[in-house]
Amino acid sequence: MKKTLTGLKPSGELTLGSLIGAIKQMRDYQDNYNSYLFVPDLHAITVPQDPEELKARIRKNVGLYLACGIDPHKNTIYLQSENLYHANLSWVLECTTYMGEASRMTQYKDKTSKGENVSVGLFTYPILMAADILLYDADYVPVGIDQKQHVELARDIAIRFNKRFGATFNIPEPLIPPTGAKIMDLQEPTKKMSKSSENYKGTILLLDDPIQAKKKIMSAVTDSENLVKYDPINKPGISNLLTIYACLTDTKIEDVETKFQDYNYGSLKKEVALVVANTLTSIQQKYQEIISSNIIDEVLDAGRIKTTQEAATKLKEVYHKVGLER
Ligand code: ATP
Ligand code: MG
Repeated sequence: MKKTLTGLKPSGELTLGSLIGAIKQMRDYQDNYNSYLFVPDLHAITVPQDPEELKARIRKNVGLYLACGIDPHKNTIYLQSENLYHANLSWVLECTTYMGEASRMTQYKDKTSKGENVSVGLFTYPILMAADILLYDADYVPVGIDQKQHVELARDIAIRFNKRFGATFNIPEPLIPPTGAKIMDLQEPTKKMSKSSENYKGTILLLDDPIQAKKKIMSAVTDSENLVKYDPINKPGISNLLTIYACLTDTKIEDVETKFQDYNYGSLKKEVALVVANTLTSIQQKYQEIISSNIIDEVLDAGRIKTTQEAATKLKEVYHKVGLER
């Protein structure tokens, strides 16, 4: 069985973008793949975090994975920081990655273009991500489009390592959803909806009050044409709403476009708002049950034990190839 692996860093509260770009894919594939879903908490500290808030968010993330329909019997679920091998492999890979290729990562360039003083970890995090993927020989990495370049870096690192030291790593591929690979901010529909965004009205959090979420959809920025059409370049706001509807109802974007072609923007927004609110209500009901049970600790203990064994074997092989042994 082929292996899928992905993670959503607890750098902020999970959003509708997190659900559609990453969690939903894992849920859709979980019957047919050997699925690994982790909490990349080491990635979260590449930017400053409040320790208490981070701790709470790590637990919340796992609760939300499960509440979104990730089946713990079909997925290996674990915390990155509980498995010391990720950071160990990352170091070896850092030493086989060139400054030039790491410097080409557009997320890093975007985050530093404003002249902010950033951590070294923010620069090296795509290499840690390569370690996360390569440790388990993942075949596919379900991600939104913004992470494609990082998965490609992981491929390049693996190919080079294999050439130099002999076959060691499987070469992973990004798995990008045909629709919903980039859910946009509701207020600035040319920007990605992001959990670290400060724009409260532009982002829908999975734990938002469904009534507030409806309001956010109703006040989403559109255009003045009042013509419902899927055209992400010229009509990013409307196209984003159609995409959200398509993903949450598992409908093809063409069919959604046809369904709403005679609607005005107000009535389209009402339909989208209803689907979003119903999705959140259902997730939140399950979340409440999960958070008050022991399931999170049970799942994470099992995930830690399993992945630590697997990662230990892989790191031993890597150390051996590189010459790190007596
Ligand atoms: P941050 O702003 O801190 O980078 P984020 O919202 O981008 O947070 P990540 O943890 O970086 O979230 O990404 C987790 C996964 O969710 C990745 O696969 C990413 O591609 C996907 N993802 C994040 N935002 C969106 C979005 N708006 N649309 C589709 N996929 C998304
Ligand atoms: Mg991101």
